[in-house]
Amino acid sequence: MARVHNFSAGPAALPERVLQEAAAELMDYQGCGMSVLEMSHRSAAYREIIDDAEATLRRIVGIPDSYRVLFLQGGATLQFAAVPMNLMRTGRAGYVVSGVFSGKAQREAERYGRAEVLATSEAEGFTRIPDLAPVEERAQADDLDYIHICQNNTIYGTMYHELPRCLDVPLVADVSSCFLSMPLDIERYGLVYAGAQKNAGPAGVTIVIVREDLMGAGAALPCCPTYLDYRTQADAGSMLNTPNTFGIYLCGKVFRWVEDEGGLVAMEARNREKAALLYGLLDRSTVFHAVAEPASRSIANVTFRCSTPELDAEFVEGARARGIEGVRGHRAVGGMRASIYNAVSLDDVRALAAFMEEFESRHRIG
Ligand SMILES: *Cc1c(COP(=O)(O)O)cnc(C)c1O
Repeated sequence: MARVHNFSAGPAALPERVLQEAAAELMDYQGCGMSVLEMSHRSAAYREIIDDAEATLRRIVGIPDSYRVLFLQGGATLQFAAVPMNLMRTGRAGYVVSGVFSGKAQREAERYGRAEVLATSEAEGFTRIPDLAPVEERAQADDLDYIHICQNNTIYGTMYHELPRCLDVPLVADVSSCFLSMPLDIERYGLVYAGAQKNAGPAGVTIVIVREDLMGAGAALPCCPTYLDYRTQADAGSMLNTPNTFGIYLCGKVFRWVEDEGGLVAMEARNREKAALLYGLLDRSTVFHAVAEPASRSIANVTFRCSTPELDAEFVEGARARGIEGVRGHRAVGGMRASIYNAVSLDDVRALAAFMEEFESRHRIG
């Protein structure tokens, strides 16, 4: 069995233990005589699976009882609409645009009310997190239903190293690509959401963690589909209709793995070590250049490029020949991107770094 070094941005590498457990249980889940894929979501066995997934997630993140956990479908993209449909009570929210996904979220929200752009780094090609002073100043007026950020910009390889201080305005964050990569102080947010396929499980599950008081009965806009009404989903235990049963089961296994590996503090230490290895190399290089500005660098997605697109293509091809997959950059940025999520090991990153050194010595300038 040959497994590659997988640096894909998402769907992305999963812990091998999770895949092996799922494979072992595929035909017969713990003596049930059937696969989780074939099981009623209303069965006692499945109830245990989803309850355990939530309980494990609550332990590893430290989610207080005042927050609800939802396992939904439709990806982070559907949350771009669900957030305003649930939270834009007075029809006005603030958005920080720091990349492609936060731009999409802002434009989607415009369909339901006013989605003010409070700050953007578009003029800098999204190579850094925007200055947050205007956001904090705007929050003082206290007339926004929420302020939305994308905490880790998967495409550009930037992340917030500090959150904006939003005072009484609830902070809403798309944490798709940084969820579970480091501790998350959930009480600083009104709501966070994450598509699971980056760091938490397979595609098809979206995790929403929402403060109870933000979802009063009848609070959602009249246009909000029943499925997307957070209150309804919370009351139904994410089972208003058939949930992504197998996806949630896999997420539960990932959560257990994170816990057994030492939790989010251990994940952060490992992720910082992997990132430091790559950024150190980039900063010493004459062939590669980091895309993100140092103060905004992500520890989940490391973006870099060579001096020409031809060299980039040669690098991607050479990497593939060495079993290093998924390093081609997003089309909006070009160059390369190494996504070094939790399931990507230090050894995987060392293999990439070794090839980068080799490429460097072949193409060194001066
Ligand atoms: C991948 C990603 C998305 C899009 O997720 P889907 O699940 O495909 O809708 C949105 N935001 C961020 C930060 C992402 O990384």
